[in-house]
Amino acid sequence: MALNKIWVFAEITGGKPDPVALELLTKARSMAGTVEAVAFAPDAASAAGELGAHGATTLFAGTDPAWADMLIGGPAADALAALVEEHNPDLLLFGMTYNSRDVAGRLAVKLRVPVITNGLDLSEADGVVVHSSVFGGTLNVATRFEIITPAIAIIKPKSFAAEPGGGGPASVVPVTTPIAEKHRNVRVTDRVADVAVGPKLEEAPVVISGGRGLGDQKNFELLDQLAAALGNAAVGASRAVVDAGWVPYAMQVGQTGKTVKPAVYMAFGISGAMQHTVGMKGAKAIVAVNRDENAPIFKLADLGIVGDALKVLPALTEELRKRRS
Ligand code: FAD
Repeated sequence: MALNKIWVFAEITGGKPDPVALELLTKARSMAGTVEAVAFAPDAASAAGELGAHGATTLFAGTDPAWADMLIGGPAADALAALVEEHNPDLLLFGMTYNSRDVAGRLAVKLRVPVITNGLDLSEADGVVVHSSVFGGTLNVATRFEIITPAIAIIKPKSFAAEPGGGGPASVVPVTTPIAEKHRNVRVTDRVADVAVGPKLEEAPVVISGGRGLGDQKNFELLDQLAAALGNAAVGASRAVVDAGWVPYAMQVGQTGKTVKPAVYMAFGISGAMQHTVGMKGAKAIVAVNRDENAPIFKLADLGIVGDALKVLPALTEELRKRRS
């Protein structure tokens, strides 16, 4: 069954769409003739240029000032349900973020349609197929919607590369569905932005991660120094060290952390458990440093160094600094 129309739900912050929306639009372009976006934020219309460049011809925008500090799940599901009834998209795509999952789940209940989550890829074979990976990446699963009424899929960030397709700005269609009073009564009272130095983990071209093999929380400084010497790198971590309280959860790479796809991923003192590798195996090149030559991470590594991370790290940083000066 060919898809006519795909909608992508875009979260907007400061007038800019979340990168996952651009990734989903890029994929949607290859699957359907009409690709449109839906967003709810007072400044949603400012995103029309970027959303259009990535494939959305129309942006359904809810711009009531109340969207600024409402919990988005309930009111967005209400508005989307009304829009779906009016415009009949075949497939709705959501990024796997806290807010988008909230919206998608509520919308699925309202429309009484199934939702497939944890998606890593999409295809069409007698219906929309969502590809995902279970049991720590050991099993790939393809799940097909048998009935499209519409289909709702939640896709993990970084499943697709965001590539502009040369389209002009999306035409903005105001969403006029009234916001129910009950939704206006729950307000977001504060937002705390993570103070991050350097590029974001999910967007950095180089990710340098540390695991339990670093031995101590303070040795993460060695990763920071290497990242600073490189200039374009972000620091990540295995769950073992997040659980130990050495670094915040925001730095965790893996099944229950972030998925990264950098040009280069460097793992220092990380064994390579499948729950970790599922979050980084899409890197273009993998460098691993581990004392144990039989560590599973070496099966994945393009370049492996059997050695003490605490010795390799400062030597590498020093060499980089020399070459750059
Ligand atoms: P370890 O497995 O203890 O490995 C430490 C490594 O360091 C060893 O290979 C050792 O040889 C090496 N080493 C020791 N000293 C040195 C040294 N001086 N120099 C160099 N190498 C050294 N894990 C994640 O990372 N991300 C996830 O999202 C995640 N989700 C999970 C979800 C579930 C449901 C479960 C059950 C587990 C999950 N885990 C996750 C945990 C995962 O199974 C591993 O336990 C974890 O990844 C191990 O972290 P590690 O490699 O840092 O530690």
